[in-house]
Amino acid sequence: MQADLVIVANRLPVDRVEMPDGTKAWRRSPGGLVSALEPVLRANEGVWIGWPGGTDEDLEPFEDDGLNLLPMTMTAQDIEEHYEGFSNGTLWPLYHDVVAKPEFHREWWDGYQRVNKRFAEKCAEVAAKGATVWVQDYQLQLVPQMLRELRPDLRIGFYLHIPFPPAELFQQVPWRRQLLEGLLGADLVGFQLPQAAQNFVRLVRQRVGHKTHRDLVYLPDGRTVHAAAFPISIDFIGFDEMAHDESVNQRAKEIRQQLGDPKKILLGVDRLDYTKGIYARLRAYGEMLRDTELDVEDAIFVQVAVPSRERVEQYRKLRDDIDRLVGHLNGDLGRIGRPAISYLHTSLPRHEMAALYRAADIMVVTPYRDGMNLVAKEYVACRYDNDGALVLSEFAGAAEELRQAWLVNPYDINGMKAALLEAYSAEPKELTRRMRAMRKQVASKDVRHWADTFLEVLAAVQSSHTKNV
Ligand code: UDP
Repeated sequence: MQADLVIVANRLPVDRVEMPDGTKAWRRSPGGLVSALEPVLRANEGVWIGWPGGTDEDLEPFEDDGLNLLPMTMTAQDIEEHYEGFSNGTLWPLYHDVVAKPEFHREWWDGYQRVNKRFAEKCAEVAAKGATVWVQDYQLQLVPQMLRELRPDLRIGFYLHIPFPPAELFQQVPWRRQLLEGLLGADLVGFQLPQAAQNFVRLVRQRVGHKTHRDLVYLPDGRTVHAAAFPISIDFIGFDEMAHDESVNQRAKEIRQQLGDPKKILLGVDRLDYTKGIYARLRAYGEMLRDTELDVEDAIFVQVAVPSRERVEQYRKLRDDIDRLVGHLNGDLGRIGRPAISYLHTSLPRHEMAALYRAADIMVVTPYRDGMNLVAKEYVACRYDNDGALVLSEFAGAAEELRQAWLVNPYDINGMKAALLEAYSAEPKELTRRMRAMRKQVASKDVRHWADTFLEVLAAVQSSHTKNV
């Protein structure tokens, strides 16, 4: 297999599922990334390299509904050191403003290098001459350089889906120079926000000593690396259409009834992750009930927490803390048939998510730090009547675009309470004004726009480089 476009990501865009008859099959994961990349992959007969999850099988390349997929095998040790260790125990907390303490272990770093090397080698095997390779996210930051050494003919793009931290924090990592050099193997390094691109260029200047000018890095070998922001988005039309679906609206009505027809439903939907600020938001809500600013007869908070990284100790502790808080709040503040919080520790299908977005009067998104936060954009896409309020953390990437949300600092409990109350009692006219503007923004910058822009800039960066040579 020789492909002109190769996507390299930690995960393949499919999950292994067991059928009723015991056989195994593939199910397409619903993420926006897949829907954005599918058309370009098809048009270029591209391939997607990634881990299918699990450790059990050595799988051959296969085709799923017209997509060429190339599974990478991970051993239990790879998962422990590369995925759970360096990716999620070191980089994830470090890049999210050290909301939790990053751990630095040399064996995790060894595992990270080893797995990145394997991904780079696989990619070098399947990329056609002069092909475009697009490497995704923090688990694979060494791939661009490793790949360039193997295949200098390729044009390589890298996109970081999570935040890139300020230099002061990045400096903690013992292998900071290697990580920067890994990324510099790309022709274009994309981030969610301009600030992240600036952090990166500044670090390259300070720590690697390369010359830089604005968003360009000049390497001693004559190559130029471009760093820029490409805020990711959602399939707006897909969500808008799903929100109009009769069965989704029927389900939204049913949800309201099942919750006891409250005047207002507040909603949080997050992976159960310490970056998401779930604890602080529920605490703020509990205080509002306790201070009688809100009443359980009128309002309910629905919190969906999707199980995540359950083998990592910090995640297990977070789950216990939130279980306990929800128990306290419901025990202290709920009445019969009127809990303060309806708490679900589960993941929901897209249809049910859309129904919840339709049912909720106030969407509450309060991460301490988040690369973008797609849930905020999905809520906006589902509110085609231009109603509903969004309370959004200033520290989510989405806040740069969704300026008409009620923006909050999740560390400021009183500020968060004040914003929730304002959103709760806002006039319909005010809601419409804000929602209309936000919908316009998300509709005009959807995920296709994101993918197309990145690939266009990548093509332009490389051809200007070729001209210079
Ligand atoms: N999601 C889902 N089912 C759930 C909860 C979330 O399909 O039960 C999806 C949600 O629609 C969104 C994604 O998971 O597309 C979460 O993306 P986001 O950027 O908000 O957070 P992340 O989990 O990537 O940190």
